[in-house]
Amino acid sequence: MSMLNDTPYKNIKNRPAHPSVRVVPINKGNRQFSAMFKPVGSRCNLACSYCYYQGKERLLSGERDAIDDPTLEKYIRDYIDGNDGSEVFFEWQGGEPTLLGIDFFRKVLQLQQQFCPPHKQVFNSLQTNGTLLDERWCSFLADNGFLVGLSLDGPRELHDAYRITKGGEPTFDRVVAAARLLKQHGVEFTTLTVVNNLNAKQPLEVYRFLTREIGPRMLQFIPCVEPRGFEDVAPWRWTENNVLTGSSAARPGTPDSLVTDWSVDPDDFGSFLCEVFDEWHHFDIGRYHVNLFESSLATWAGLPPQVCVFNDFCGKSVMVEQDGSVYSCDHFAYPEYRLGNIKNKPLADLVFSSQQVGFGFGKLDNLPEYCRQCSYLSACYGECPRNRFVRTPDGETGLNYLCPGLKRFFAHADERLKVLAQEISATKNGQLQ
Ligand code: SF4
Ligand code: SF4
Repeated sequence: MSMLNDTPYKNIKNRPAHPSVRVVPINKGNRQFSAMFKPVGSRCNLACSYCYYQGKERLLSGERDAIDDPTLEKYIRDYIDGNDGSEVFFEWQGGEPTLLGIDFFRKVLQLQQQFCPPHKQVFNSLQTNGTLLDERWCSFLADNGFLVGLSLDGPRELHDAYRITKGGEPTFDRVVAAARLLKQHGVEFTTLTVVNNLNAKQPLEVYRFLTREIGPRMLQFIPCVEPRGFEDVAPWRWTENNVLTGSSAARPGTPDSLVTDWSVDPDDFGSFLCEVFDEWHHFDIGRYHVNLFESSLATWAGLPPQVCVFNDFCGKSVMVEQDGSVYSCDHFAYPEYRLGNIKNKPLADLVFSSQQVGFGFGKLDNLPEYCRQCSYLSACYGECPRNRFVRTPDGETGLNYLCPGLKRFFAHADERLKVLAQEISATKNGQLQ
């Protein structure tokens, strides 16, 4: 029997079952926010070549131990107290959070139970590379209703191209074994696939592998975009000289490329989305959730998007490191975007500080005119600001590197999204069956 049916974890719930297509917009305009917590900082048992978080120990505040008890307690109390809503979603990330062991998460559950008032419910999700998941872990995750995000980049050759151990060993077999164990134990999991220069060229191989051979309920695709020098130079601190037009010179693999070789080419990203969308639309609506497609569907239905990158402002998803430092966003984990520390201030005060509000509205305020005139503005809003490092065709700075691919996808999916949006509007609950 699930521990959730027993006290003491009465306020920590299994996540609600997913309907067929969910159009659940992200929260806007109220005192709700999300925080991604990194209890081990950037510590990881793998050394994925494209990991944007490697090297953060040096950049942020040096080598540090895992979180101490008072900081964990303060974080959990602040996060529950600071959120107005009745549901509070904890996201545990790394580095690799399973390095902390099951007992750490038992302590988390106890603290959540201690600080959660009767009118609120707590949910937990864990993002993992999967290599440490075994029977005990899966049993614990199932019993306590964790949603698991499993990093998996596609079939063996594509996954092992970048996702390797510190000794250079492949990890595919261990991750697939973890997926099987999660399924056997009934743990709800999503796959997180980093779309990079290699797997972007094989969209159907990646999508069919994930859906037919792994079978998560949701697939998340995250484009891999890293400007050269990202280890030291924070987004929006690029020099004017480095900001090129989105020409071939900005593409990965060219001698003067703006981005690392493993970054996805914008055109490849567009093709990837179009081909996967066709397959999903044809066969899989209602069977698999795909984060970017359902988010676009929400905006086509006149609702706010489901993913932050297509929202008109940022700022409501902060990142908290194991020493209690809070950053504007996981993708802005640089000293310039440090908001403060929960040891000195309540978390919600940092999230709603003037510095963070300025950061949040910067997404819209800094849009180039080219985006303001774009037919897909309300679906895109210039995507994530961290990727806005090329010039528009008329020379303005601040265009998103992925723009050509995004535009292509929006145009490609437009008619079918319109039809689906009409069907959704005709239903009472905003869901397609
Ligand atoms: S900076 Fe990017 S990832 Fe962070 S909240 Fe804004 S859109 Fe989302
Ligand atoms: S598709 Fe391109 S031009 Fe249009 S809003 Fe997005 S980034 Fe801007």
